[in-house]
Amino acid sequence: MAAGSLKHAPASRAPVIFLGPAGAGKGTQAARLADRLGVPRISTGDMLRDALAAGNTVGRAAAPFLERGDLVPDEILIRMIRERIADPDCAKGYVLDGFPRTLPQAEALEQMLGTVASSCVVLNLEVPRDELLRRLTGRGRDDDKGQAVEHRLQDYEDQTRPLVDFYAKLDRLHRVNGFRPVDAVSADLQRIVEAKG
Ligand code: AMP
Repeated sequence: MAAGSLKHAPASRAPVIFLGPAGAGKGTQAARLADRLGVPRISTGDMLRDALAAGNTVGRAAAPFLERGDLVPDEILIRMIRERIADPDCAKGYVLDGFPRTLPQAEALEQMLGTVASSCVVLNLEVPRDELLRRLTGRGRDDDKGQAVEHRLQDYEDQTRPLVDFYAKLDRLHRVNGFRPVDAVSADLQRIVEAKG
């Protein structure tokens, strides 16, 4: 068939997953990458804060956890993501920022994605703990103060760190040094994702 006679659907990209603790630069880098790829960035932290502000069912259920700086229960997050990635704007791909954060969430995502799961690109932003503390205590969100910062970093170690192994074993993990200028980190992330097609 002659080139040009086919109607091309937009190429769909494999989902991108960001790991890395609070302060590693996930939000900034996920937004830049999503922009660059022309796909939505899905931030579960933003979705939960929006739900809280809207006072809807999810917001009311999540409120006590958000106030304590605890992780919100898996079932709430899993349902939220299942619905969000079914939206039409996600058909071409998306960048997940803040999900999955626990093993049950990662396992649920595997189920949701089916055969697509194996093509996911997982980016782990690595930043030394001292630098994370410096960045977080300087940033000034309510949940970024003193003890709350320690608490969030500890949650990361306990609940999210195991995902690094989970994805490494599946051969999908890319480790990126996040303790560098923002542009250098962005360039690396983009290179990794584009190499994956
Ligand atoms: P973030 O802006 O990504 O740091 O998220 C802010 C807060 O939302 C976190 O401290 C958690 O309480 C909650 N949260 C966001 N994503 C998740 C998730 N995947 N699982 C559980 N809680 C989450």
